[in-house]
Amino acid sequence: MKRRDFLKGVACGGLLLAADVPSALAQPFARQQKAMPPEAVGILYDATLCIGCKACVAACKEHNSMPPDFSTTDQLWDNAIDLSGKTLNIIKLYTHGAGAAKDREDGFSFVKRQCMHCIDPSCVSACPVSALTKDPKSGIVSYNKGACLGCRYCQVACPYNIPKFEWDAPFPQIRKCQLCSHRIKEGGYAACCEFCPTGASLFGTTKDLLEEARYRLTLKPGEEYGFPVGRIGSRETSHRTVEAVYQPRIYGEKEGGGTQVLMLAGVPFDKLGMPKLSETSDAARSEGLQHMIYRGMIAPIALLGGLLYAVHRSTKNNDDR
Ligand code: SF4
Ligand code: SF4
Ligand code: SF4
Repeated sequence: MKRRDFLKGVACGGLLLAADVPSALAQPFARQQKAMPPEAVGILYDATLCIGCKACVAACKEHNSMPPDFSTTDQLWDNAIDLSGKTLNIIKLYTHGAGAAKDREDGFSFVKRQCMHCIDPSCVSACPVSALTKDPKSGIVSYNKGACLGCRYCQVACPYNIPKFEWDAPFPQIRKCQLCSHRIKEGGYAACCEFCPTGASLFGTTKDLLEEARYRLTLKPGEEYGFPVGRIGSRETSHRTVEAVYQPRIYGEKEGGGTQVLMLAGVPFDKLGMPKLSETSDAARSEGLQHMIYRGMIAPIALLGGLLYAVHRSTKNNDDR
């Protein structure tokens, strides 16, 4: 075999190994997964209650001072079609065929996309300068533009494709939902939940939201229920007859180590664009693998150092003779 072919083979083998690292190799070395903070807060988005009015999108813009995001050439309306450096929260539409029936796989469904406020976030793990941090109490994942290098590792690391870069700004920064932490500090809560008319976006502690979501999974079509509106514990409820059949799981309860933003829907979550993730976070897998490699590198580096020293001594002795 020629030397060049050998090197090519080694390089290709290395790439294949690297591509398969997350699932096959990293799993056995995963570090312990981070636990949900004691006072974790989040959002329960119930797609079966969503009417696609986008009041949450408008409220998010207004209360986070985000500029309009145009998708038509006349630039008359703020009509973002996806998350961007100008849009932190978006309502998307899934349709199949004629899309006649709501919350059915052969019909249509709305889906809200925003930062999931992961319990063990990959963006925090990947950021080399801690510009992204997770609050130890509330669990909110926040961004500090003053610390950010603009490397965009967080964008690559996020399994939900959430952080966006302000490509057209003179001093660009990363943009993503920060769970309206500025409003929470003043006794308020997430604007998207406060202005949602149906309770489809509901704010609360993640523990309470999980309890609420588990209860909803017991509801059958035809039953009456008073769905809380705004935040858990508020007096406002929306009494309605359950029409949809829920998918039998809460998205975010386990995905990627769990998230503080949870979802219920009548359509399978992968059809709504939500990724299928294992129960172990990417951060736990990649950090565990890194630590194993660094630990494992100590012996080979010491051996290499010893060999280099021996070669140096032997060369020197030969030169002296
Ligand atoms: S969804 Fe993405 S950006 Fe949000 S906390 Fe998780 S990893 Fe970070
Ligand atoms: S919590 Fe605040 S920033 Fe996040 S999507 Fe809702 S309104 Fe927007
Ligand atoms: S405000 Fe509520 S009902 Fe309207 S689009 Fe947003 S989540 Fe859906």
